[in-house]
Amino acid sequence: MYVLEVKELTKSFGKIKAVDHISFTVPEGSVFGLIGRNGAGKTTTIRMMMNIYLPDSGEVILRGTKIGQEFKDKAGYLPEERGLYKKMKVWDTLLYFAELKGKTGREIEKKANYYLKKFELFDRKNSKLEDLSKGNQQKIQFITTILHDPEFLILDEPFSGLDPINTDLLKEIILELKSQGKIIILCTHLMDFAERLCDHIALIEKGKIILHGSLSEIKTRFAKKNILISCEEDLMFLKDLGIVDSVMDNGNEKSIKLKNGGEPQELLRQLIQKNIIIKKFAADEISLHEIFIEATGEDKRLNTEGANV
Ligand code: ATP
Repeated sequence: MYVLEVKELTKSFGKIKAVDHISFTVPEGSVFGLIGRNGAGKTTTIRMMMNIYLPDSGEVILRGTKIGQEFKDKAGYLPEERGLYKKMKVWDTLLYFAELKGKTGREIEKKANYYLKKFELFDRKNSKLEDLSKGNQQKIQFITTILHDPEFLILDEPFSGLDPINTDLLKEIILELKSQGKIIILCTHLMDFAERLCDHIALIEKGKIILHGSLSEIKTRFAKKNILISCEEDLMFLKDLGIVDSVMDNGNEKSIKLKNGGEPQELLRQLIQKNIIIKKFAADEISLHEIFIEATGEDKRLNTEGANV
């Protein structure tokens, strides 16, 4: 069952149609990925959902009712452009933003301490924001987003500026929040993160949704005849095999697409015959990155059949 329904949202800026009649649904208890390249229309969509922009047309329905200003209190929104008061101290910042959402008291302080410890910032409680690194400021902004215990979390490019350790930490916290029943909408152009975190996605391209649904179902649909091979050797010679449609070289991992009628077994036989040392051979596997390329038609060798428009 879905909790949010975005219906035919449209927004233009002058001649630019930033968002063009987009519709998607967000299921209960999910991490939902709104994914697409730079300028695709993700932030504009989110701003309309958050009532920051008025749509030209369309609406957002929350459990059967059109959302209005009150959605802002139900949601924690991490905007793409970060904005905290640089002269303010970390602790005061956290309490101030919680208070703006009507939350004060011991519970909030306990929670603020919990997240400061989790993000390894407990000893910076009394530092001014301007004295923190960009990544640490970003972590504080994330805490302000979740402190008032919102039902929805809307995170616009939450990983930008974070190092790998903090990226993992943030992923862990997002999944912890999901396990608490929060509904998380993650806007990103980073397919890798979307793939690891999201169970449902909408892929937006030039203001339109070109793919929408459960990630596992989409993967099954796109993975037909897709083989992933881990090996160090160059496999470009496979292009000349009659059964191979395309070869994509991602370093130690190669993605092979078979033509209709091509059998993985035959491909394996050819590799063994050439004495290729194979570390992994997996049929019917495809990454979200490859799906993105296929669905957006970036790689014309791949066919776009199956995109759920
Ligand atoms: P990114 O990942 O780069 O943030 P995005 O998918 O969030 O991209 P949007 O920021 O929604 O994309 O932008 C969609 C289109 O609308 C772009 O062409 C952008 O230049 C344009 N746009 C967005 N906001 C405005 C605005 N306030 N005025 C004019 N044009 C805008």
